[in-house]
Amino acid sequence: SDSVAETDPELAKAISDELARQQGEIELIASENIVSQAVLEAQGSVLTNKYAEGYPGRRYYGGCQFVDVAETLAIERAKQLFGVGFANVQPNSGSQANQGVYQALLQPGDTILGMSLDAGGHLTHGAKPNQSGKWFNAIQYGVRKQDGRVDMDQVRQLAREHKPKMLVAGFSAYSRIMDWAEFRAIADEVGAILFVDMAHVAGLVAGGVYPSPFPHAHVATTTTHKTLRGPRGGLILTDDEDIAKKINSAIFPGIQGGPLMHVIAAKAVAFKEALSPEFKLYARQVVANARVLADTLVKGGLEIVTGGTENHLMLVDLRPKGLTGKATETALGRAHITCNKNAVPFDPEKPAVTSGVRIGTPAGTTRGFGEAEFRHVGELILEVLDGLAANGDENNAAVEEAVREKVKVLTDRFPIYGQ
Ligand code: PLP
Repeated sequence: SDSVAETDPELAKAISDELARQQGEIELIASENIVSQAVLEAQGSVLTNKYAEGYPGRRYYGGCQFVDVAETLAIERAKQLFGVGFANVQPNSGSQANQGVYQALLQPGDTILGMSLDAGGHLTHGAKPNQSGKWFNAIQYGVRKQDGRVDMDQVRQLAREHKPKMLVAGFSAYSRIMDWAEFRAIADEVGAILFVDMAHVAGLVAGGVYPSPFPHAHVATTTTHKTLRGPRGGLILTDDEDIAKKINSAIFPGIQGGPLMHVIAAKAVAFKEALSPEFKLYARQVVANARVLADTLVKGGLEIVTGGTENHLMLVDLRPKGLTGKATETALGRAHITCNKNAVPFDPEKPAVTSGVRIGTPAGTTRGFGEAEFRHVGELILEVLDGLAANGDENNAAVEEAVREKVKVLTDRFPIYGQ
């Protein structure tokens, strides 16, 4: 046999340890999910062997007849899922999908207006260290200090002042509904292209529980691995034929070579799952669970940025308990609850420390947690945090041990991957 276990036991152990970690921990990272066996199987298939530069029916390699079927299924399903006329399923990641949009529609030096990283935007929306911040004149909008919400007046004022060629809407850490129509009105007023990056909420959009960026956006991107629950990857959507042509050329040959056909096959599987009635129930449950989790944390003395959530995630402000994101992430990790530290708007702490954590419900909901379970998860978080506040980082071991046992009881009740 040439299985990984036999040929490479060191690597096999890393994989089996990661499987056990996923099975035994409560996953609250808002950008993660748990894919189906079918998605795993497609991604682990022989399609990884195939070169297929080009697009279905127009390839630069022979032998593409079957990968053409896979890519066409992915394209057609993506179009149906989001109700648009065009989809490019080849971006290797969300960042490359966004780079593809810029490559298609902008020239170096053009002005873009996007949400700042500090306020909950993504690196690729014009942050300084990212290519989008280096190659373009990137202007950034943020959120209001008093309520943590996107300041549409500021967006309008910056758009009027800087006349961006592109307005970028979308976020990685924002718990509210975005007014896509308002963004479009501002884009129209200054003659900008509206680009929506719906990476975080695409699954909620597909499930009908979060407003679709269409028909407002000229072009939209998403990752396929967050709420959408597919393999890691990117997707670009538009209803504009001219933009569509430019997007195809921008992805290949503009910024990518051979597409990852095994990943595209897995995207097709995930899109089919997302088209099912069960996925609508899933999306609804993700949002209901997030509300319960936010309520539980607020009752326990924490603050949620903007006061609550209307999607799958929330930013928890830890300052009422005198804790940092760094200490909280580590303590919860020891208790087998996984999340990430995250700056809150106007955070006085350094980015490596922060005053907040970002948590979300997509992965837990996939394994079957409902509102009762997420109330319990909220109580477990509070138990660890109150222990941390009372005992400090060094002396909280007994509390964390107790919570770890309760996490085991919960994760055993909701097994994944043959657990
Ligand atoms: N866009 C948004 C809004 C995101 O949150 C992310 C993921 O963190 C990305 C793009 C980038 O996706 P990837 O990590 O696949 O490059």
